[in-house]
Amino acid sequence: MTATQDPTNSTGPTSGAHAIPSYLDPNNIGPYEIYLEQVERVTPYLGKLAYWAETLKRPKRILVVDVPIHLDDGTVAHFEGYRVQHNTSRGPAKGGVRYHQDVTLSEVMALSAWMTVKNAAVNLPYGGGKGGIRIDPRKYSTGELERLTRRYTTEIGLIIGPEKDIPAPDVNTNPQTMAWMMDTYSMNVGRTATGVVTGKPVSLGGSLGRGDATGRGVFVTGAEAMKKLGMPMQGARVAVQGFGNVGEAATRIFHEHGAKIVAIQDVTGTIHSDAGIDPKAALEHLRRTGKITELPGTEEIKRDEFWGVDCDVMIPAALEKQITLANAGQIRAKLIVEGANGPTIPAADDLLAERGVTVVPDVLANAGGVTVSYFEWVQDFSSFFWTEDEINKRLDRIMSEAFGSLWDVKERHGVTLRTAVYIVACTRVLEARALRGLYP
Ligand code: NAD
Repeated sequence: MTATQDPTNSTGPTSGAHAIPSYLDPNNIGPYEIYLEQVERVTPYLGKLAYWAETLKRPKRILVVDVPIHLDDGTVAHFEGYRVQHNTSRGPAKGGVRYHQDVTLSEVMALSAWMTVKNAAVNLPYGGGKGGIRIDPRKYSTGELERLTRRYTTEIGLIIGPEKDIPAPDVNTNPQTMAWMMDTYSMNVGRTATGVVTGKPVSLGGSLGRGDATGRGVFVTGAEAMKKLGMPMQGARVAVQGFGNVGEAATRIFHEHGAKIVAIQDVTGTIHSDAGIDPKAALEHLRRTGKITELPGTEEIKRDEFWGVDCDVMIPAALEKQITLANAGQIRAKLIVEGANGPTIPAADDLLAERGVTVVPDVLANAGGVTVSYFEWVQDFSSFFWTEDEINKRLDRIMSEAFGSLWDVKERHGVTLRTAVYIVACTRVLEARALRGLYP
């Protein structure tokens, strides 16, 4: 069967197989359920390629590993680690590694699938992958985290590599984590393999501009959406949830372009100011005190009040499943730019669409990070490094061109921007799938 043959009414090559794999609980599928629903929604727009749609619903490869380490007190602790390669039809798997106490297989599966969609949406030559360890890293020393990272890297070393699967930072992992991963992989293969991970420190084959890349992409796509909606940037009121790698950079860049930051929420609390918050002062305060609250000139508000803050643009940049039916009705922003992965559940998405709120979906809005990761990987292969200015210009161009063409698809089909991104991305993945055919 090829893409050019008529699939008639076939349900596809896995017709008759179980809809939900046995390793997921059908009564509590978890975050992967959100992704499956997104695939269901896009399938009617895939034409003949719908024949292959089942391939989108099943990760290609899942590795679950035990990660034992010596703790500083001399005892041994075991942690659950995952690496999921959702799809490799268009190129090697690519996606971050998350350290969080709530990591589950379903979550890593969903995150890896969103990477497949994201990489195809901005046309990077990658499939999708993701990894994670179920640990609260705040409770462990730097030495313990280094041992954890090195053992995890060795365990997943079977399936990662510069041409196979390239991890990067995600929640609670950073350039230092990537340096340990790169060193461990390099020791195991007997050569310095800089291209095995991205998001490394610049002195170790990292790319200039990577630190801010995701937040910068959130800004670029947000600014493009504001132009389409006729919203001026100057004085636009912005509320952000999450003040880490993505949220802090996005907030700072919006502020630099004249927007007013009216609320910031992180794990320590929520601050609000009608007069506007200076993100640099907020970051300095957070570094000094370990919390976002009690920043001079701001008031602390209750966690749930964040959603009803008077603002024009809201940026969820923390974790998934934050915008639900419980709060979507309160949101006053006209535009939501998803810095985080999977922050909006599908039912809330529908409610926002009914209320006329435009959502720039995660798979487009936060693709800046993986785009500069791609630049880093290319630079590592050629050992030739570009200037920050070149990187930012290329990033801005890729993000704004992708936004423009996806917006056109949205208008043409009369769908949400999320469905438009899924139409384009899933078509690219399934075209590759159909052209390659089934092995053997
Ligand atoms: P990070 O660890 O640097 O920051 C996470 C932030 O979220 C912190 O400020 C934390 O305090 C806050 N947070 C955690 N739990 C919270 C809660 N319950 N309520 C409010 N705030 C909470 O992580 P990051 O790299 O900025 O990633 C944030 C999101 O963006 C994740 O969904 C991640 O998958 C996604 N993302 C990250 C990148 C990247 O390049 N780092 C790229 C694409 C997508």
